[in-house]
Amino acid sequence: MTNITDVKELTHFIDGKMTAGKSGRFSEVFNPATGEVIARVPLASAEEVKEAIKKAEAAFPAWRDISVAKRAEVVMKFRHLVTENKDKLIEIICTESGKTEEDALGEITRGLESVDLAINAPHLMKGEYSVNVGGQINAYSAKYPLGVVTAISPFNFPIMVPLAQTSMAVAVGNAVILKASEKVPMTALFVSELWKEAGLPDGIWTVINGDKEAVNELLENPAVQAVSFVGSTPVAHYIYETSAKYGKRVVALGGGKNNMVVMPDADLEQVANAFISAGYGAASQRCMAISTLMVVGQETADRLVEILKEKIDNLKVGAYTENADYGPVISPQAKESILKAIDRSEEEGAKIICDGRDKDITKNSKGFFLAPTLLDHVKPGMEIYDEEVFGPVRNVVRVNSLDEAIKLINQHELGNGVTIFTNNGLAARKFTTEIDVGMVGVNVPIPIPVGYHNFAGFKGSRFGDGQMFGPDQAKFYTKSKVVSERWLSTSEDKTMSFAFPSN
Ligand code: NAD
Repeated sequence: MTNITDVKELTHFIDGKMTAGKSGRFSEVFNPATGEVIARVPLASAEEVKEAIKKAEAAFPAWRDISVAKRAEVVMKFRHLVTENKDKLIEIICTESGKTEEDALGEITRGLESVDLAINAPHLMKGEYSVNVGGQINAYSAKYPLGVVTAISPFNFPIMVPLAQTSMAVAVGNAVILKASEKVPMTALFVSELWKEAGLPDGIWTVINGDKEAVNELLENPAVQAVSFVGSTPVAHYIYETSAKYGKRVVALGGGKNNMVVMPDADLEQVANAFISAGYGAASQRCMAISTLMVVGQETADRLVEILKEKIDNLKVGAYTENADYGPVISPQAKESILKAIDRSEEEGAKIICDGRDKDITKNSKGFFLAPTLLDHVKPGMEIYDEEVFGPVRNVVRVNSLDEAIKLINQHELGNGVTIFTNNGLAARKFTTEIDVGMVGVNVPIPIPVGYHNFAGFKGSRFGDGQMFGPDQAKFYTKSKVVSERWLSTSEDKTMSFAFPSN
């Protein structure tokens, strides 16, 4: 049991300084691999958030007016510092999220893709110019930063998602307030130090730790111009509705329930390896994790389940120090609710192929470990099929045709990612054309786009028209102004006309 005096008290990062919380409210941060509380994170009051927004508002004009090339230079220095401090970042990410070292390095690397794209802000902010659009008039459009913007992030990617949500926002000239997940606040605080060292002016980067009270102030405060949210679908929907009510630009990305469709011609050994890594990696706590293997044909399903059983039963679950395949889930509550979901799916008629509930690491470890579970004969209407279960229990759904697979996937409320394994180009083409999902793969385990493409799902996986990363972010975080101008000598055009101007 950790002694309360050993537990570190964390802060916010406001106006360039680590700032103690004043609300008196705290949340516990765990090391999920040991089950210990390692820190207390302050939960900001609305009043504290208001003060932070004022500091950001005051800092914004000077940052907006610095040349975009100079801003890109700061982002470049920041990139360099992230790389230089990679090992420290891996340690923090692993400690507070439970990820393996390899996985933490992976998310840093993918997060840097967003930073790289943000370094291109001078190019992405370029406008358009037309000469002589009428009566000696030239017209141009130009992108301007919005002002104070906020990003609200989930626990499962302590660095990749915040970097994806904020790097472009900083580079195009906004003042950014990150409301980090209260479950993994230490990564965001360390990133704040790197921004400061990179030369970002005080007030342009703020980290507010908190819960609904802090979030509501960010959504309601008139100084906040745009909201980027990534998290679960019910909260994403709430963020979207509330931000819209307060007249803000908003993109709110929600959860996923991602399928891997397997055609009978696919190489089943390749499919099994792809499914296991994409399904169980990071203890299945990825919005793009594959949760359902949708197999076309009973015989293919029988053969695949047999291959999977042995491989899944041999996965190594453990702490990041133990060279494991995957680590713990984020909290004791998460573990409890995943175990209950497995119980209910058994009651609902799913067949248990691998049972993670029975394993020693699940039953006897102090950490929040869950050995892998695989369920077969899962059907729509079962909770395990309908809901996003954010932990290592994965499903096999048996279908009779590609059409049936496409129909089922399109009927699901969520539409984040999907992939198909086949060697038949025609089947792949039909699938990519007809499927109603935002990110689609063909023979790739997880179809996460690279950072210089846009990222977002469809349906209940995204509310609002914006992206988490990719070039469209430059559009999301700027407003485009169109200027029509002419310069006349005093001898020209002395007429007055009441007709609507036309060219
Ligand atoms: P979450 O929705 O519980 O929390 C996300 C953020 O919202 C956190 O900062 C949290 O403090 C805040 N929050 C939580 N409840 C709130 C409320 N009632 N009002 C206002 N703010 C609230 O999500 P999580 O558990 O941290 O993350 C896991 C979820 O995120 C999964 O559903 C996963 O699929 C999703 N996710 C989606 C993407 C994507 O790109 N679509 C990426 C990563 C994670």
